[in-house]
Formats: sequence, C-alpha cells, structure tokens
Amino acid sequence: MILLSVDGLRACYGAAEALSGVSLDVGEGEVVALMGRNGMGKTTTIRAICRMMPSAGRIVFAGRDLTRLPSHRAARLGIGLVPEGRRCFGPLTVAENLAAAARPGPWDAGRVAGLFPRLGERMGQLAATLSGGEQQMLAIGRALATNPRLLILDEATEGLAPLVRAEIRTAIRRLKAETGLAILIVDKSLAELREVADRAVILERGRDVWDGPLHTLDPATADRLLGV
Ligand code: ATP
Repeated sequence: MILLSVDGLRACYGAAEALSGVSLDVGEGEVVALMGRNGMGKTTTIRAICRMMPSAGRIVFAGRDLTRLPSHRAARLGIGLVPEGRRCFGPLTVAENLAAAARPGPWDAGRVAGLFPRLGERMGQLAATLSGGEQQMLAIGRALATNPRLLILDEATEGLAPLVRAEIRTAIRRLKAETGLAILIVDKSLAELREVADRAVILERGRDVWDGPLHTLDPATADRLLGV
C-alpha cells in the first residue's frame, strides 16, 4: 500500500526553480532514501511535502490530498519531521520537550526511552546541555512523540561522530523491524544508507532521475549522480 505519493512536484525560491518535477512514492513500512548531491533539491522536496513552502504538483498522503494544506494540518495527518539541524527547546528538559510534541498514540516518553536509553537516563536534563548526538536522538524522539505514520529525517546524522551515527542507524532499523513505520530519509552517506534503506530516489537538478533498490545502484551511476 502506498502511503505517500508525490507526483510532478515543482517549487521555486523567488524566480529560481528549485524543483522542476519530482515524483516519488513511499509504501507502508518502507524505508526510502532521498539522495543527490548538494543543492539538488532534497530539503526543498521535504519542505514541500510538509507544506512548509508552496508547490505545484500532487502530494497524496494516506489517501488525502495535501497539496493545499498548511503545515500544521500536515503534521496532524501524521507526518513527523526531523528537520535539518537539531530543533529542540534548549531551556526545556528532555521530558518537557517530548511532552510538548506529544499527540495521542503508542509513542510516549517511555517508549522513546526504550529506543534511546541515553535519553531515558536524562529525562530531567535540560536539552541545551545534551551532547549533539543526544540532541539528535531527542529531535527524533520528538517526531515520534507526535505518533506519525511517516517519519522524515533530513540529514539526521550530519556532523555526528561515527559511533553516534551507528546508534541512530540501529534505532532506524529497530523502528522498521518492530513498528513497521514508513521512513523517508535524506543522508549523504551511501554506505550508511545501504544499511537501512529498502530503496532510493536520487535527485538531480530538481528532478528524480533514479529510483530503485539500493543494491541495484551500480558504481558508475552512483559516481555520476552522487559523486562517490
Ligand atoms: P544540500 O544537500 O546541500 O542540503 P539539497 O539537495 O537539500 O542540498 P535544497 O536545499 O533543496 O538542496 O536546494 C535546492 C536548490 O534551491 C539549490 O539551488 C539551492 O541553492 C536553492 N535554495 C534552497 N533554499 C533556498 C532559499 N531559502 N532561497 C533561495 N534558494 C534556495
């Protein structure tokens, strides 16, 4: 079953066209990587899906047309976004950050603590005093606390130490295996994405130019489209 279907997405910043036709699907329980070199439109695609910027084309999520919905409505329909850069409330504790995001459903603070034990040990600590990796775990925890049907991670491990990146990948694999949550993930590391993603969509200059299981991505194409 297709959960998110994006068709012919176009978006501009002023006169500059950033997306000139992006189509992609995410199935129920599927982990899809959105890839491409710098500036190819990954973050813009996510911003348009989450209705944080106007766009043309069709976005259907869980059978509902999101195309003209404002972003707070999209969040309520079940899209949990972990945006680029860790957006936690520094002056609030971990528990308060999770409570502020909470919507009814199985994901509460206890379940987030089960996924990220390090956060569980720090429920009373101010978010501003967490390490970078812990803040990223909290950002993911906040998105999960909204009880989404689709989790979107935009460069969730950028700038983090290899060990923390591995911890977050483990959490993503657990989410997939244990909850069947659909996940759309933007990341630059092909090697790391191969560990978690079922399929990839690659963007080039605001268009999707490759779509398939990651194990079918040959080195020449990866080099051409990703510069790796
Ligand atoms: P990166 O991997 O560097 O984050 P990306 O694939 O996420 O890149 P986008 O951030 O979506 O790419 O950018 C797509 C295009 O839109 C780029 O040409 C970029 O310069 C442009 N762009 C992005 N944000 C803005 C903005 N706020 N104002 C003007 N142009 C923008």
